[in-house]
Amino acid sequence: MSTRAADGVVDVTIVGAGPAGLAAAYYVGHREASCRIIESLEQLGGQCAAVYPEKHVFDIAGFPKINAQAYVDLMVEQGLQYRPDVRLGEHVRELHREQVSDEDVWRLTTDRGEYLTRTIIIAAGHGAFEPRSLPIERIDDWLGRGLHYFVRKAELAGRRCVVVGGGDSALDWTINLQDTAQTPVRLVHRRDRFRGLESSQTHVRELAASGAAVIHTPCELREIRGGDTIEAVVIEDTSTGASTEYEADAVILQLGFVSRLGPIEEWGLEVVGKKQVRVDPTSFETALPNVFAAGDVAYYEGKITLITIGLGEAAIAANQCVARARGVKLQPAYSTE
Ligand SMILES: Cc1cc2nc3c(=O)[nH]c(=O)nc-3n(C[C@H](O)[C@H](O)[C@H](O)COP(=O)(O)OP(=O)(O)OC[C@H]3O[C@@H](n4cnc5c(N)ncnc54)[C@H](O)[C@@H]3O)c2cc1C
Repeated sequence: MSTRAADGVVDVTIVGAGPAGLAAAYYVGHREASCRIIESLEQLGGQCAAVYPEKHVFDIAGFPKINAQAYVDLMVEQGLQYRPDVRLGEHVRELHREQVSDEDVWRLTTDRGEYLTRTIIIAAGHGAFEPRSLPIERIDDWLGRGLHYFVRKAELAGRRCVVVGGGDSALDWTINLQDTAQTPVRLVHRRDRFRGLESSQTHVRELAASGAAVIHTPCELREIRGGDTIEAVVIEDTSTGASTEYEADAVILQLGFVSRLGPIEEWGLEVVGKKQVRVDPTSFETALPNVFAAGDVAYYEGKITLITIGLGEAAIAANQCVARARGVKLQPAYSTE
């Protein structure tokens, strides 16, 4: 029972196709409500697919260990089974309330078009994100020639890799490249202490003790040298000021991301910090009527930004949207097959 009208109004529009957006799409489809997903990237899967496709995830119930891309592939299969209208490569920009056939609906404007919807789930993660870089002049000229912000393991087979960063992703890549890159993998961090998971720190120290990794701390990557491709890096030990050149084929910058909600900040929502939107944690509705949020973008006291948390939030928001679009009382539904 899809309630899509001839005027193109859908029941639910989901902004963002990360884990939360895909989970919401599943629940909306399962309730036979009409659904559209708008995603600014050209791919589905959010941070899992864009930032760490080859990292393993250990903390999703039912999956003791799963590769992030394999996980989002399953989410895509599940989330798109009811055939929502999927718009990739479109940035959501503006939101306006208007009346269509005596019904109050939302008009969402993207950089490519306009869409009418009864309800909205903002599942925009941290908004559109860009990786942080290093203050090395024209560093991005090395992109495609050995410099990586996003890692595809196959491109690093047999390479001498230098990973830069002090958080989870830098530690994870130092570990995950062991079966692919030439060892030792070098890990450069400007402080003595790492910020990542204790067990990952221990693992990297064990790799260093065995000679499979070299930890450079407190150090900074000062220069990338080479011709057509990267051939060497210069690393400065900031405690002594001494600089050393090391042969290298690949530099992997894992310095985090700069992200902003962008135009969503202007919608009249209660924005917390620069990346989150306050919701009522009993319904996941925002300050705007029929506009809900789920996943990393949704803020309430005690919020934890994890995949598994976003999935539950998406289920609540999706069921709220379906009830709101139909003008009926909220009722959860189970599959009966
Ligand atoms: C390195 C790293 C490792 C992690 N490891 C784990 C882990 O092991 N376990 C775990 O539970 N969590 C982990 N996380 C966190 C996890 O990835 C996030 O909690 C999860 O991705 C949030 O899902 P989401 O759907 O809310 O947002 P996202 O995955 O961020 O997806 C949001 C999507 O919305 C799109 N979007 C944003 N703005 C717009 C717009 N204006 N218009 C259209 N589309 C838009 C974005 O392009 C993006 O695809 C990790 C995160 C990182 C960075």
